[in-house]
Amino acid sequence: MLVGVLAVQGAIAEHVQALEKAGASALKVENRQALERVDALVIPGGESTTIGRLIGEYGLYTAIRKRAAAGMPIMGTCAGLILLAKEGDKDVQRTNQKLLGLMDTRIARNAFGGQRESFEAMLEIPVIGRKKFRGVFIRAPTIEKAGEGVEVISRFEDRIVAARQGSLLALSFHPELTADTRLHKYFLGMI
Ligand code: GLN
Repeated sequence: MLVGVLAVQGAIAEHVQALEKAGASALKVENRQALERVDALVIPGGESTTIGRLIGEYGLYTAIRKRAAAGMPIMGTCAGLILLAKEGDKDVQRTNQKLLGLMDTRIARNAFGGQRESFEAMLEIPVIGRKKFRGVFIRAPTIEKAGEGVEVISRFEDRIVAARQGSLLALSFHPELTADTRLHKYFLGMI
């Protein structure tokens, strides 16, 4: 099983390591040829405006959407959760930043505000077991609104921080920054 990590900007190497630790082979994806080779794709955290722009510049925008439509699993973490969404908050709409528009979600960028830009919280994520998962939140977004086909898999302080829609998995936090590989394994199970 070969899993791609979108390698245009953001926490790329950490996802490669986490995927390998979870038992998969990983490939950095920065062009269409590489995208064609992978069975699944991780869109990492970083700066969603930059990643969105670079996806276009690298000629990957339509290619990712086509593979997603054909059922390729995608996990988006943090900025990746933003990029997967169909709709953004007012800020996203005002700046007209590019989203892939794959998941029936409306997201809020930097949802935990300025002074709490970075924090950790123990999360209940029943689909990966009873033991709580340490969520690392860095200027994290949340899902404000989720459509009917979206399964909420974790909330923090009543806000949606993890959700799945078919072969798409969106996380507000950074699972690649902890030693716990359960979410990467869960994603591999979706392939
Ligand atoms: N706030 C960032 C954004 O909007 C995401 C932060 C992250 O990926 N760590 O792109």
